[in-house]
Amino acid sequence: MRGCSPRRSYLAVLLALVTGALALAACATNPYTERSQLLLVSESHEMQLGAQAYAQVLKDPKVKISHDPREVEPVKRVAARIIEAAKNSKYAEIAKQFEWEVSVIKDDKTLNAFALPGGKIAVYTGIFPVAKNEAGLAAIMGHEVVHALARHGAERMSEGQLAQAGLTVADVLIGASTSNPATAQLMMAALGLGVNVGVMLPFSRSHESEADYVGLLLAAQAGYDPHESVHVWERMGQLSKGQPPEFLSTHPGHETRIAHLQQWMPEALKYYRPQPGMPSADLPTLAPR
Ligand SMILES: [Zn+2]
Repeated sequence: MRGCSPRRSYLAVLLALVTGALALAACATNPYTERSQLLLVSESHEMQLGAQAYAQVLKDPKVKISHDPREVEPVKRVAARIIEAAKNSKYAEIAKQFEWEVSVIKDDKTLNAFALPGGKIAVYTGIFPVAKNEAGLAAIMGHEVVHALARHGAERMSEGQLAQAGLTVADVLIGASTSNPATAQLMMAALGLGVNVGVMLPFSRSHESEADYVGLLLAAQAGYDPHESVHVWERMGQLSKGQPPEFLSTHPGHETRIAHLQQWMPEALKYYRPQPGMPSADLPTLAPR
């Protein structure tokens, strides 16, 4: 356009990009809950952000990766079964695209676990007493993995919560500024890593509820007794005093959560196929070392 000032042409380009991105925007429907989702962030961009955020957490000098087989093996075993279940679920398409990775973070004080877009999973050893056994671990990992499979991070970015926190929607849409540390921090917060970056953006009630519900079905499908999820939340209530892990930071309260899980239990039991030889021993923090 002739006579356009540099600033105006910049705006025109930006507008074109935003309009283009909006035109491509998907309005998806969750295959389990039929909740509709506004998704302005592409799957590949979201997966790239997940991988970046994961690398950032793992390279943090304060983060100690466990190589103790007593801690790593149960986590990897449960993750493998949950991933297999995901690949045979209504999320099969996205689960097969993920480049799954699992790490155990040696930190007995942090009651947390997360799964980022692209299938990047981390479990803190501090969650072991809450999980207690592999079925409990499956309940927790099922929940976390659903946040990633259901693209809750992308949805949250799309909802403009980051824009409110000082980031422009255009930045998110064109994926331009993840090299900016402040932006990268907000991205991580949107992906549920608020605890790690000191910015807390809890998942919404609908995201939590969806993760609880589909996570319960996935854990059952993976061969773990879904009843254990109820005990996990009971233990979470007892053990998490004063700490806000990702899954504690939001409504619903424990009682509501447990009531919902009980309500979904008959459906979960239809998915449940007990596996012979499934380890039932306590996780290492509770076993003698
Ligand atoms: Zn959650």
